[in-house]
Amino acid sequence: MMTARRLMVCLVLVVSGVSRSAGAQDSDLDPRVVRLVATVSEERLGVILKKLESFETRSTMSSTTSTTRGIGAARQWILDEMRGYSPKLQVSFDTYQVVPQGRITRDVELRNVMAVLPGRSPRRVYISGHYDTLATSRGQGAANAGAPTPAADPDARPAPPVDPNAPLDTFAPGVNDDGSGTALTIELARVFSQSGIDFDATLVFMCHVGEEQGLVGARLHAQKAVAEKIPIEAIFNNDIVGNDRGGNGIVDGATIRVYAEGPEDSASRELARFVQRWGGRYVPSHTVRPMARPDRFGRGGDHSAYNQLGFTAVGFRESRENFACQHDVRDTYEGISLPYLAQNARVNAASAATLALAPPPPGVLSDRGAPMITRAPSGYDANLKWTAAPGAAAYRVFWREAWGSDWQHDVRVGNVTTLILPNMQIDDYVFGVASIDAGGHESFVTAYVSPARASTDIKTNPGR
Ligand SMILES: [Zn+2]
Repeated sequence: MMTARRLMVCLVLVVSGVSRSAGAQDSDLDPRVVRLVATVSEERLGVILKKLESFETRSTMSSTTSTTRGIGAARQWILDEMRGYSPKLQVSFDTYQVVPQGRITRDVELRNVMAVLPGRSPRRVYISGHYDTLATSRGQGAANAGAPTPAADPDARPAPPVDPNAPLDTFAPGVNDDGSGTALTIELARVFSQSGIDFDATLVFMCHVGEEQGLVGARLHAQKAVAEKIPIEAIFNNDIVGNDRGGNGIVDGATIRVYAEGPEDSASRELARFVQRWGGRYVPSHTVRPMARPDRFGRGGDHSAYNQLGFTAVGFRESRENFACQHDVRDTYEGISLPYLAQNARVNAASAATLALAPPPPGVLSDRGAPMITRAPSGYDANLKWTAAPGAAAYRVFWREAWGSDWQHDVRVGNVTTLILPNMQIDDYVFGVASIDAGGHESFVTAYVSPARASTDIKTNPGR
């Protein structure tokens, strides 16, 4: 009975979404996003993962000539798969000719696979993973345990082939690292492109390559975005998000970690809070755990390549890792929990859809780059100003004690660009503001942050 009743509630939500235009809403939840989240398919995720595993290796340095094995076959399949989802999706290779450097041991052509779902505006929201794989002779488990041989280097690679130009075709299934993030990205390309929703932001479903060689594919794309002034608003990067059983036996299939680089109240931290807020509303059965640090100790991921060039990006990581299966031939389909991976996909879907439907976040800096927050008019008030965001119909102002990590209070205001909170000492609180469209979709928060001050050299007279 309970199940049937719940189903009825779901159906009512879905049906009302069809009949209602994107006008005023009486709920925080958009029925179209509810339906989109419900469209994520465990079965499809499983099919994609098995296909990715079938290429046996997707090493960046593996063969490109076979149609069934190695990275050439894998990237072509990913391209063809996403092309089949919808004529709205613009699917292409994002190709670079890379010369030997770092862990790239020979000339190699790198191809990210990207699917673009154009929105009404050019601003972009990315969902990403990396489809390349790595298997070392000792794996991540031995590296973490501090095994002494051959070297205490977590990124130690197997001995290169005798011929440096020969493809590295040893077995490297990489089903969790990062087949899981890749499958999530591919599945959400399907879900979003078939949703029928008209998004404001352009959505990009990006399968990076060269991650295991030093975030190479992500760095190349981020550099291109800087050079071509591509307005990337947010990147949701997923890397190792499909296993719920820690190698120490502890199981957690109900939470996901979201790493966000600082400093405090950076846009990436605001994006992590946004995922917690909106993921928590649309997928209340899954708990988002924001992490106020760039990534796990000694480990890296593609979101950092974007952070380092000034973009707003967070990294999704499963809550309990099994290091014995990472960078190891044991990273196979058996290590995946499809229900867990699907929950992580739903959190991504809810957050990215809300962000892509919302207006861009408002600006809080003056033309001179100063935060537009003062104590006027009394000298003891909080006087906030912000710049209007295109498409915004209202704003929500947030605040919290300056020692806190999560927003404690918020108030919705109309289509204005200033708010005075009498007797609120601006020195004691962090303030921020988000933009909201007529349908209730909210951007992430832009916070008022004091700029760092440079030290001043004081001159002295050495003669006295
Ligand atoms: Zn990875």
